[in-house]
Amino acid sequence: MAICYLCAMIFPSSLLENAVNEFSRLPGIGKKTALRLVLHLIKQEQGTVQQFSDTIARMRNEIRFCTRCHNIADSDLCNICSDRSRRRDTICVVENVRDVIAIEGTGQFNGTYHVLGGVVSPLDGVGPDQLPIPDLISRVKEDQAKEVIFALSPTIQGDTTIFYIQRQLEGLPVQITTIARGISFGGELEYADEMTLARSLAGRLPVGQYVGRK
Ligand SMILES: [Zn+2]
Repeated sequence: MAICYLCAMIFPSSLLENAVNEFSRLPGIGKKTALRLVLHLIKQEQGTVQQFSDTIARMRNEIRFCTRCHNIADSDLCNICSDRSRRRDTICVVENVRDVIAIEGTGQFNGTYHVLGGVVSPLDGVGPDQLPIPDLISRVKEDQAKEVIFALSPTIQGDTTIFYIQRQLEGLPVQITTIARGISFGGELEYADEMTLARSLAGRLPVGQYVGRK
């Protein structure tokens, strides 16, 4: 019997223990959840578990990053960049692939993306030279972009990133915008912090452009 000193779980098998340890390395998965997942897999057919592990291994081995926008891709270009119906002159700058998936889920954007893979954060040791910002500037020039939309988190780091890129784009004939920041739908005004409330006021819209839209 092996005893895990972190969680005091006593495992009857080192094979089981190893599998639980692997699953518990995943974000948000504790030892108990890992054990539940592993016991679930043990109940499955061998072929089903083989397919599961093959899919994960293949995903890791074959996944690529779009040479154009740095989104996750199956080949040189991602599905969005290779779609001719998407507007190349409208570029939405996001931090990561989850943001692309979230914006795609709205069905409201027909441009292309630029995935930075992070934001400028000196305290975490991330400087602008570690992000694919020169690629973005080249794209803006080559595609004669009409608009660059920043869809970054409303944090100091997000704002620093926007400020830096905006400086790089100065002098180019491109409109630079940011997604609206304000009170979330269903949120209550009195609980909003002053910064959010101030930005909501500064970014106010005519009622006709907003209320009633789905
Ligand atoms: Zn792409």
